[in-house]
Formats: sequence, structure tokens, C-alpha cells
Amino acid sequence: MASALQNSLGTIDRSTVEQIVRQVALEFLGRGKAQAPVLTVQTSSRHMHVCREDMDVLFGPGAELTFDRPLYQEGNFAAKETVTIVGPRSRLISNLRILGPMRKQSQVELAFTDAIMLGFSDIPVRLSGDIAGTPGAIIIGPKGVVELKEGVIRAAIHVHMNPAEAAQFGVAKGDKMKLRIGGQAGLTFNNVHVRVDPTSRLNVHMDTDEANACGLHLTKDIELFK
Ligand SMILES: [Zn+2]
Repeated sequence: MASALQNSLGTIDRSTVEQIVRQVALEFLGRGKAQAPVLTVQTSSRHMHVCREDMDVLFGPGAELTFDRPLYQEGNFAAKETVTIVGPRSRLISNLRILGPMRKQSQVELAFTDAIMLGFSDIPVRLSGDIAGTPGAIIIGPKGVVELKEGVIRAAIHVHMNPAEAAQFGVAKGDKMKLRIGGQAGLTFNNVHVRVDPTSRLNVHMDTDEANACGLHLTKDIELFK
């Protein structure tokens, strides 16, 4: 199905694709009522979220994010816009992708490896949005420079789910679950934060360090449990 969709993406418009996806999803839901929801695990590469004020400085007054590709959670997308981040020892990483939509506060999510490369001695592991007291950085855009006072974090590994899925697992928002990854480099993550939202689709977000450590690409043997 995925490859058929990809093959036809060039010739059919977006709403047709969305309709097909919706149909398939509905058929799937109808068939699999008694089954556990299908779990997907995704790797988030380093990225930035921007607020309106910082967007104005980095890309010019009133600039909007340009849609590049959709992310798994509805409404979220990778933007075409990128910035450069400068760390405490003047080291930098360019092509830092911005994810949309815009948020109330700017935030940069790095893997530890990225943070070390940028010269940070440490960055805190936080859930997205929880940035009080975190390190800052210099962000360079095509139209200007922003000095973030705080907002550089390593995103804590987490699972998104809707209330029905939470009930099925017997967990609530704020709980922690375990994620066992099988395969040659397999390991178990013991602190997977549960995030519950009615619009969410069941999936785990981990960063590139975590994905590389457990060899996520090597296996489909994955289990999420309390
Ligand atoms: Zn997430």
C-alpha cells in the first residue's frame, strides 16, 4: 500500500491521497476492533520549533512556514525553512529543520551527540514545551539572528496515544511505560512518557541517539508495555 501510494503521489492530488488513507484506516479499524492498536516508532532528528516573534526576526516580518512534508501526528509538518544553531563554544550546526506549526515558545530539540558537537556540557532531558531553566543558543536565519535565552533540550522519549488507546494499555497521561526493542542491538527503554490527546495516533518518538543505540532500523520486534 505504501509503495502504491508513493508511486501514485506524483499523479494524484493531495485530497485524493487523504481520502484513500482515510478509507484504508477506516477499513482497518473495522477489521481490527479486537486487536491491539498498531504501534509505530519514529525517530526525530534534531529540529526547532519557532514562535511568531522569532519567526519575524529569522525570516522577516509576517513570514510563514512553508509546508514540506506531513509528520505522523495530524497537523504537524516539516517546514522547508531551516536555521543555523550556534552553541556555547562557537561551534555550529546548519540546516536545522523547523517543524510546524508555530508554537508559543521557540525550542530546539537535540540528541546528546548534537549537543556535544555544539559544545554544550549538558542539556536536560525534558518533555516538549517544558523549557524553564534550560540552556539557550544563538539561532541564525536568512533575515536575522535570535538569541534564545532558553529552550535547548533533549526530548524525553515519549509515546503519543488517544484516550481509547490509553484505556487499552491501562495508562494515563504522565505515566511511564517500557519499550522493548528486539533485534541484534535491542534494548528496553524504561522511561517512555505517556502523552494522551484525542487527536493523537499511537506512536513513539525517540531521538537519533536512541534509535541508533537500539538499532531501531534492524528490527520489527517492538513491544510497548506498562
Ligand atoms: Zn512526539
